[in-house]
Amino acid sequence: MDFSLLQQLVDTPGVSGREERVRELMAQQFAGLKAQCQTDAMGSLIGHIPGKGPRVVLMAHMDEVGFLVSKIEPQGFIRVMPVGGIDPRVFGAQKVMVHGRKDLPGMVGSVPPHLLKKGDGKESKEALPIEESFIDLGLPAEEVAALVKVGDPVTFATPGWQNDRSFFSKAIDDRVGLFVMIKAVEQAKNINCDLFLIASTQEEYGLRGAGPAIYATLPQIALVLEGTVASDTPGLRLPPNIVSTAQGKGPEIRLTDRGMIAHRPLADFLVNLAETAKIPHQVIVKNTGATDAAAGQTAGPGVKVGALSVPVRYLHAPVALANKADIISTIELVAAFLERVSELK
Ligand SMILES: [Zn+2]
Repeated sequence: MDFSLLQQLVDTPGVSGREERVRELMAQQFAGLKAQCQTDAMGSLIGHIPGKGPRVVLMAHMDEVGFLVSKIEPQGFIRVMPVGGIDPRVFGAQKVMVHGRKDLPGMVGSVPPHLLKKGDGKESKEALPIEESFIDLGLPAEEVAALVKVGDPVTFATPGWQNDRSFFSKAIDDRVGLFVMIKAVEQAKNINCDLFLIASTQEEYGLRGAGPAIYATLPQIALVLEGTVASDTPGLRLPPNIVSTAQGKGPEIRLTDRGMIAHRPLADFLVNLAETAKIPHQVIVKNTGATDAAAGQTAGPGVKVGALSVPVRYLHAPVALANKADIISTIELVAAFLERVSELK
């Protein structure tokens, strides 16, 4: 499998509300699939591949967690507001890109150990809150003032890399969903439905783009493609009643989360497809996390939804990690879904 499109997707910045560069890239991909394209008022890209059968949506979000410039100090240090869930413990000392009048690489300031206060040691153990942190562009204050303004987006500056088994990068959530969408449509032998592709906006800011895009397309069935938390690393303790989503076991077919109860016949249909085609998969019940499926399910007259996710370690951090075999299995399952979806009762 050629992962160069995923590489391109993760290397393109797109903080919630500022997805335009990712949208441009996705518009080229949709055009390559001969989809008719439109952009809605929320900025979501909607592609239509007309066909016979049920109205079906595949949806993945374009935005990534990041920051907005909220204040520029007189000395040129930049303060930010987080957009989406970011742990302050993974913010300090990171390389970031401030998307001002041009892309400006910089870093998040940190306190050297030499200057940490002794005392009870509390100060040296706690991460600096993001509100108190700052970005240093290493430029004179006047130049910063000329190039950066309040509201400019900021992303982690971690270009993706890969080895034979794994793919590493920022923004795998949810560029991997967009990648799966494109590859599955390419791979499906015949598409058995009237298909809409939605590259949604503002998911990380509260699932905001999905509802309007669903309302515009009025599908009977929507399958949301995501990168979800892989909880298979040392030191993580889940409640005793929860099975951890692990890498190497194929896509997660989610029955519930914090905001959704999947349409059970659709989830069962996906499990059946996976079993028939011998595609590894894991069925998960949990009450944490939420995806566009939660917002899409109750938009308009309501939709039969499912959520299919590639397990990703270190989600929302400056670098996350996905297993290539899981990505390939997810693509295979979505392709099988497109070929057979008209059989879903
Ligand atoms: Zn996501």
